[in-house]
Amino acid sequence: MAVAATSSTIGSFYHSRSQRGITRPRMAVRSSALSAVPILTSLQKNCATPLPVLRHVADAMAADMRAGLAVDGGSDLKMILSYVNSLPTGNEKGLFYALDLGGTNFRVLRVQLGGKDQRVVDTEFEQVSIPQKLMFGTSEELFDFISSGLASFAKKESGKFQLAHGRKREIGFTFSFPVKQTSIDSGILIKWTKGFAVSGTAGKDVVACLNEAMERQGLDMQVSALVNDTVGTLAGARYWDDDVMVAVILGTGTNACYVERMDAIPKLRSHMSASGRTIINTEWGAFSNGLPLTEFDRDMDVASINPGEQIFEKTISGMYLGEIVRRVLLKMAEAGALFGESVPEKFSTPFILRTPHLCAMQLDNSDDLEAVGSILSDVVGVRSDLCARKIVLEVCDTIVKRGGRLAGAGIVGILQKMEQDSKGIIFGKRTVVAMDGGLYENYPQYRRYLQDAVTELLGSEISKSVIIEHSKDGSGIGAALLAAANSNYAHEF
Ligand code: ADP
Ligand code: MG
Repeated sequence: MAVAATSSTIGSFYHSRSQRGITRPRMAVRSSALSAVPILTSLQKNCATPLPVLRHVADAMAADMRAGLAVDGGSDLKMILSYVNSLPTGNEKGLFYALDLGGTNFRVLRVQLGGKDQRVVDTEFEQVSIPQKLMFGTSEELFDFISSGLASFAKKESGKFQLAHGRKREIGFTFSFPVKQTSIDSGILIKWTKGFAVSGTAGKDVVACLNEAMERQGLDMQVSALVNDTVGTLAGARYWDDDVMVAVILGTGTNACYVERMDAIPKLRSHMSASGRTIINTEWGAFSNGLPLTEFDRDMDVASINPGEQIFEKTISGMYLGEIVRRVLLKMAEAGALFGESVPEKFSTPFILRTPHLCAMQLDNSDDLEAVGSILSDVVGVRSDLCARKIVLEVCDTIVKRGGRLAGAGIVGILQKMEQDSKGIIFGKRTVVAMDGGLYENYPQYRRYLQDAVTELLGSEISKSVIIEHSKDGSGIGAALLAAANSNYAHEF
């Protein structure tokens, strides 16, 4: 696996000692590469996440969770009730659908559940990316797109999927934006995030929006559970493993949820569940306390469609890592001619450099960093020499390391809060944190930095029993399981 060049390897490129001991440039581009170094050094300093910074972030996360549980609006963290008070047991049976509207992709899934013995008998899914124009269109356009995708998928249902006689097809609807849940099958969109600016949805019940679109399509299905993607992931992972207590999404955006005691939620006056537990959707993307931020983060935030909001998300999630790196490289290019004298217009296009590009560059372990060179040339239109490529890798590594380590600190914050409330519930026993999302799934360096931070914070002994694991496609199955658990026909089981 390729690891980004370290400062010392870059350093070795600037100068070489001649036999007479005079420092001479080894490369023709010495001056332009050198001029980027102060920017790199200051970036590394400002993005550093030594243990005290991580500890502060973990403590602040735990404190913000408490404040958000005390009263609505008590902190950056909304700490939203999911109305999911019981998790899948394995007894769920029948055909269920799931819909997942993320930030980048839209997925549809069907699953045939066979109860304790057979579990998941069969499952099928389709995925399409969300057309850019729908992110800025009207609510009707977006929900029409969703329901027509669902309709064409439902048409392809084959005989191996069996709907019990007299039932409607039921859907678990995963909607990965901040929603004030009003019941297990309704909830009001608080605001769009992750670059969405769809008109006419904020303040409305998103299930009603979907139902109206399904009616327009003549599609006879019904939403039985409205689920945040983190909650779906937790439910899906819990189906296989009783020790799952927390779920975290690291995809286009980021969020986390966890199992909370009802009596630890002061803002909850009624609505006690039989189990005495519920799932809280933290909406931790809005966290902002004590983060090591730079001018590049601040400029990106100011230019965003939601300035001042979702600061943790803008620091650690997939939508933004590439854009932060682009901003740093652009400054290096303009201030020091890192890629030659002229800066192509393309380079100034926001979000043109994406997180998967960073990942592909960091996986390049060729001697001349050829893949780095061709990505830079294809994506931002610059020519680069080896020295510039190494600096680019350093910038990627700095931003990805900060993101991964801060995500790890956030996870420890949640675990810490749970442990403080119920001694022994987390530490000293096996505890699983279920992870999902394209960033976590596909970016090995990010994953490693996240794990390193968790281990550093918890210490080697405790961290042995805290298992952070990928729960592949957990959220889709999880949403279907929650639809099953909340089925209108549940009494018929
Ligand atoms: P969503 O957030 O829309 O539900 P995903 O969980 O699939 O979708 O996450 C998609 C995001 O994951 C992309 O926007 C991107 O930031 C990130 N991603 C996808 N592939 C990679 C990759 N190879 N390397 C790094 N990040 C990736
Ligand atoms: Mg998602």
